[in-house]
Order: sequence, then C-alpha cells, then structure tokens
Amino acid sequence: MKSALIARVRLGLTYKDEVSADRDDDYALWPRMRVVPGPRRPEFIRVHPLRQCELMREMLCQVCGKEAAHDARGWLFLLPNARADWPGWPEAMANRHPPVCEECVELIAALCPHLIGGLAVRVKRPVLYGVYGTEYRLSPNGLAAIGPKTVSYEDPAVAWVLAAQMVRVLNGCSIDEPLTAHLARRVMQ
Ligand SMILES: [Zn+2]
Repeated sequence: MKSALIARVRLGLTYKDEVSADRDDDYALWPRMRVVPGPRRPEFIRVHPLRQCELMREMLCQVCGKEAAHDARGWLFLLPNARADWPGWPEAMANRHPPVCEECVELIAALCPHLIGGLAVRVKRPVLYGVYGTEYRLSPNGLAAIGPKTVSYEDPAVAWVLAAQMVRVLNGCSIDEPLTAHLARRVMQ
C-alpha cells in the first residue's frame, strides 16, 4: 500500500499517518520503503534510498556496508571525474556518493559504469549537509512536484522536499593520485 503524501500549511510535507521512522535525525522526510534489498550485493545502478541514507550517515562502504576507509588523509571516496568543473575540485562539493573501503574500491572502479575513470579522493571533513530529493509545493490543485533539489538541513525549504539521497559536503579534499592511477591501470588490463 502506498502511503499518501500530504502537505500541512506552514509545516510542509508529511504522511497522513506519519511515524517517527519517516524522518531522519535532522527531520528530512524519506520515502516509505520498508523492504531493504536482501543479500548485500553491489548495486551499481541505483542505490536504495534508505540504504544510501544509512551508508552516508554512518560513513559505511557503498559496496559491502562495512566501515569505509579512513586514515590521516581522510575518508576514501571514488568520484566521477569532474576535475574541469572548478579549480580545486572537488573541494566544497555537495556529494551524494557514499564512501568506499580499500577492498571494494577496485571492484567498483572496474564495474560501475559511471565510475570508470573515476578519481580516488581523500576527504578530511565530509560534513553532513542535507538531502537531495523532489521538491513539492502546495498548488490550488493540491500537492505538486516541482523537480529535483539539493537542500541543506538548515534551510526551511527542506520541509518541502521528499528525500532520495543524503548529501555530504566534501571539505579538506586531496586526490589520491597513486590510487587513481592504479585503478585506471586495472581497468585497462
Ligand atoms: Zn567495501
């Protein structure tokens, strides 16, 4: 049974029969999907929303679900190469990719289509920021979806977004060039 999303004036989105599990610790509303995919296996196409939330909040590897790699250089993330986007990329990027562990980084770099040629990045301060999801507004005809939006937990607009993914802003980034080169060589083999 699909639960109806409703809006309350001033309060924003909610479910008619909202329960505490519908929101995360920072009060963002999440879709109701109680069934989490069975045996843990890499899901390269689409990260289950509630699972992505857990991985991001707890800083767990997006493939195996164990603690992600971290050392003095920071937490390990594998990101699609967008180096040309701005000088110092990916510093201050709003990121939706959960981190990875040392064991899984080779697997995902070789098999996940959008991460082939990706960059291994060490991040000292991946700060919990907010959510990416669908923004709604109350129209004369009822609740209307406007489109995708990334919103901070601090922003009152978060009350009108149904979350799909949790976002961390990456601060203190350095590209791990040796690991990136190693991953690229593995793909070419
Ligand atoms: Zn792993």
